Amino acid sequence: MMRVDLHVHTTASDGQHTPSEVVSLASSLDVIAITDHDTTEGIAPARAAAAAFGRPLILPGIELSTVDAIGDVHLLGYMIDPDDLTLQAMLRRFRDDRFTRGQAIVARLNTLGVPLTWEAVAAIAGEGAVGRPHIARGLVALGVVESVREAFEVWIGEHAPAYVARERLTPEAAINLVHGSGGVAVLAHPGSLGANWQALAERLIAAGLDGIEVNHPSNGEAVRLVARALAARHDLLLTGGSDFHGLKVKPHNALGCEAPPIGTVYAISQRARWYGGA
Ligand code: AMP
Ligand code: ZN
Ligand code: FE
Ligand code: FE
Repeated sequence: MMRVDLHVHTTASDGQHTPSEVVSLASSLDVIAITDHDTTEGIAPARAAAAAFGRPLILPGIELSTVDAIGDVHLLGYMIDPDDLTLQAMLRRFRDDRFTRGQAIVARLNTLGVPLTWEAVAAIAGEGAVGRPHIARGLVALGVVESVREAFEVWIGEHAPAYVARERLTPEAAINLVHGSGGVAVLAHPGSLGANWQALAERLIAAGLDGIEVNHPSNGEAVRLVARALAARHDLLLTGGSDFHGLKVKPHNALGCEAPPIGTVYAISQRARWYGGA
């Protein structure tokens, strides 16, 4: 049987492992999609490593952060063209905004008496785009909190004192961006969206959504049943993946722990052709 994981992060965003480390960790898998937050920088190095290694096949992907009335909404894009100029212009804008916003959070922490430095955060983020998970790890390293979770609760979560918002797309705009670069758009981990996710999904289906991530560690059985019913009714793709970030970052999201239904990789590639994708 083919082993597939369609939701994998690297150090290009907030993952613990470099793309080539991810490829070697995925040596028992046949296909993985690299789906970093708001960047495609991990795809080429993962492909180079996989070519040298002989496996797995790398599907180009992205996880776009969007905002809606119900809160943060993540949209996965599969088979996007990493060289698409409109996509890259938008991603560059996000990256610049993440940088200034990360510095604003650190400044706020300093005002609140927490001596975290921007240099420490930048060192943790490495080459990748700066996110709150990096700042959280900086706070853990400094001994200010015991865990990433506590860092969010006490300091940098949405309702915590050092929170600063950043620029985000609407889910509809993200769907259009994905289609424009030849990809298919999939609603990520609906289990983290709360009880009203079905209404959102129906609105996004009308706006061109191609699929739902049915298999994900944060989706309960009820969420999966609703996702399957929506997919049957609207002819959607059903996808799945672990949301691997490295076990130090997300201990419950082991590489390969969730997989898409059989036939999904082929279905994605067929559907991407509608949008001019590979
Ligand atoms: P950012 O994109 O910089 O706003 O950071 C968002 C990321 O932080 C999300 O994708 C999650 O990985 C992580 N995150 C958000 N809230 C929490 C939380 N309460 N505990 C741990 N990680 C979180
Ligand atoms: Zn992440
Ligand atoms: Fe996500
Ligand atoms: Fe993710």
